[in-house]
Amino acid sequence: MLGRHHVESGVALGVIGAGVATIAGVRLLTGQPASGLGAAYAQWFSHVLDGVAAMSWGARLRGLAVGVVAFIVGTLLPDIDVPTSSICKILHTGLIRWPFPHRTLTHSIWPILVLLFFSTWLPWLAWLAAGMFTHILLDSLSTSGVCWLWPLTRYRKSGRMGHRKRVNQRHRVHLYKVGGSVEAALNRVLVLGAIVIGVVAVVTLLANHAALA
Ligand SMILES: [Zn+2]
Repeated sequence: MLGRHHVESGVALGVIGAGVATIAGVRLLTGQPASGLGAAYAQWFSHVLDGVAAMSWGARLRGLAVGVVAFIVGTLLPDIDVPTSSICKILHTGLIRWPFPHRTLTHSIWPILVLLFFSTWLPWLAWLAAGMFTHILLDSLSTSGVCWLWPLTRYRKSGRMGHRKRVNQRHRVHLYKVGGSVEAALNRVLVLGAIVIGVVAVVTLLANHAALA
């Protein structure tokens, strides 16, 4: 996926995820008392709402701005293993040779887990990890796929001589080819979906504001 599409589709996935989580949380808190997993989620969601309510407007805006920047950097960061990628151009890292092949360590679950662990002390790392997650998720849908558990799961060589590339051994979903028209269409669908779900989530939150407070 192209760098621009990684940012747009990644942010769209973030908005869709946050939107669905918000709508579900509001429904649980304003509906019938839930049990089991639903009750645990409602409790966590109300904890988050209390946390946001306790913050000043300045702190909310600062947290959001830092988070959004970290998220956007995260949507590009895994491609630091390609010298021609957007993130390498931005950071001027083209001269540093990354020691691992493309779509290996930076496209696995391990850096995300490490970032989530340290986000206890630096909350913006969770936003960075979320952005990276969208990048790997979107790359997973391309023809080559991604080995999330690399090196526990590995790539194999595929294609005709001279055009051989590495693909995930058990890859099944080949939704788009990198840089192709399906990639652009997927990007547009995700952005449109994010706008719709984002608006519904904000309206749901505002409409139930009194009941949640
Ligand atoms: Zn990538």
